[in-house]
Amino acid sequence: MTDPALRCVTSCGRPSPDAFLCPRCTRLLLIDLLRVPWLMDQLTLTMARLDRVPAGAGAGPESGTPLPLRLTTIQAASTLRYTLQPWARTIAEQRGVPLECRDTVVALAQWLAGHIDSVRQSDEAAQLYDEVRYAIAQVTRAIDHPPSLFYAGPCDHCGSDLYCGTDDRGHPKAAYLTCRSCGERYEFAKRRAWLLAAAEDRLATATEIAQAVPGIYGRQISVNTIRSWIARGRLLPRAWVHHGVAYAQRQADNDRPLCRVGDVIDLAQQREAS
Ligand SMILES: [Zn+2]
Ligand SMILES: [Zn+2]
Repeated sequence: MTDPALRCVTSCGRPSPDAFLCPRCTRLLLIDLLRVPWLMDQLTLTMARLDRVPAGAGAGPESGTPLPLRLTTIQAASTLRYTLQPWARTIAEQRGVPLECRDTVVALAQWLAGHIDSVRQSDEAAQLYDEVRYAIAQVTRAIDHPPSLFYAGPCDHCGSDLYCGTDDRGHPKAAYLTCRSCGERYEFAKRRAWLLAAAEDRLATATEIAQAVPGIYGRQISVNTIRSWIARGRLLPRAWVHHGVAYAQRQADNDRPLCRVGDVIDLAQQREAS
């Protein structure tokens, strides 16, 4: 393939004389693959948070509540696994190289990222590109905030999941919410203790924490305040995002820090007490 008239096999239409995927589409696919370890960490945290809901709290279709968030996260993880696995095998076979990696989502994504040149030379690159990017987008969606509904924990009375509508910034809209299964009414402010406990172990960027805090803590904390706490060493990052992947140790100067939500709320409480 050295004909300059040849175009990228995705819908992008850019010239791609030397491979089926153009450099831009290759880069987009590579960035997605490199984000997978971080995405899977976030998915695990999302599931751990949802696991705190007592057994039996999952709302079935008969109760009229939305599809449980947990199901969405499990489906997204499984779609990604069963998309990466056959594609890694296909690329390995086409190139005549062994598929030497563990059979996990993260290992398969890293293997494909390491063989990105083979991927762009594969005559099945268009299908691989669509399917892999779609599956990664599903995982991103499963962990992405703000959702259109704010999860407010299980009903104290019947155990069903409670949800509250949110505004465009993901903040709860109503001061009161009503359990759709048993009709129990809650003042939203009183659900905060539960939300706080559920969220405190999550790791997130300063921007994400600043967005999430009003909903769970009831006060604004600006992203600049969080950044200044990090700069002055009052808030210690628990991990660092380097080229889309989370590491326990900082890899480069421009890595983004990930902090624990609970640490930020502790500092906010200290600030108010002083
Ligand atoms: Zn392209
Ligand atoms: Zn209830």
